[in-house]
Amino acid sequence: MSKTTVTIWNEFIHEQKDEKVKKVYPDGIHRKIAQMLGDKYNYQFATQDMPEHGLTQDVLAKTDVLIWWAHVGHAKVEDAIVDRVQQRVLEGMGLILLHSAHYSKIFKRLMGTGCGLRWREANEKERLWTVEPFHPIAKGIPQYFELPNEEMYGERFDIPDPDKVVFISWFEGGEVFRSGVTYTRGMGKVFYFRPGHETHPTFHNPTVIKVIENAIDWAKYEGATDVMKAAPNIKVPLETIRSVEPK
Ligand code: ZN
Repeated sequence: MSKTTVTIWNEFIHEQKDEKVKKVYPDGIHRKIAQMLGDKYNYQFATQDMPEHGLTQDVLAKTDVLIWWAHVGHAKVEDAIVDRVQQRVLEGMGLILLHSAHYSKIFKRLMGTGCGLRWREANEKERLWTVEPFHPIAKGIPQYFELPNEEMYGERFDIPDPDKVVFISWFEGGEVFRSGVTYTRGMGKVFYFRPGHETHPTFHNPTVIKVIENAIDWAKYEGATDVMKAAPNIKVPLETIRSVEPK
């Protein structure tokens, strides 16, 4: 079986401008995620400053799963590229959105809601509860796991009802958040996963990476189906139609 091709898109702005972030992710969040995931997958990397944000037709055509991390650059992502990514999701490409990607154009487009939330930067503890232990994304993940320092995201998270809520976060300050949610859009599977603030080593955490690995395996492109290939006008029915003209 050929390896799944994962394209990791990172706006790659904080890591080049902010010394604190550079210390945690010297090669960028995208490279760290790939390094932690290891050689199970083929990787393509794309960043905002590349032509077409690195998401050319060719790159997307080869992508089984697209991972998206972004924060300060959302507004500068070209709408034509958002259209292209959306189209590819509808055709069956998996999409995993991390942390502040909740406000990305592509997530808002796919959700059709504002995608806002409450937040606080206080380096507080986050405890993630696995509430769908038999979901493929929760495979091998304990009943709960903790991140010692994270940014807080709290409800209400302005998203449509998810297909599944796989993880719920509790924060030291008292808020809760639907932190791992799945959707289906067209033929594509979409997973939003909350942790991953740029100043914390969240993507150094093996459990966080295991969730991302599970999500890749769950969301990967499965190939065009007969449903997609079917001609929209079915002139020859399977059964003989006996209807007669009404008198
Ligand atoms: Zn953040």
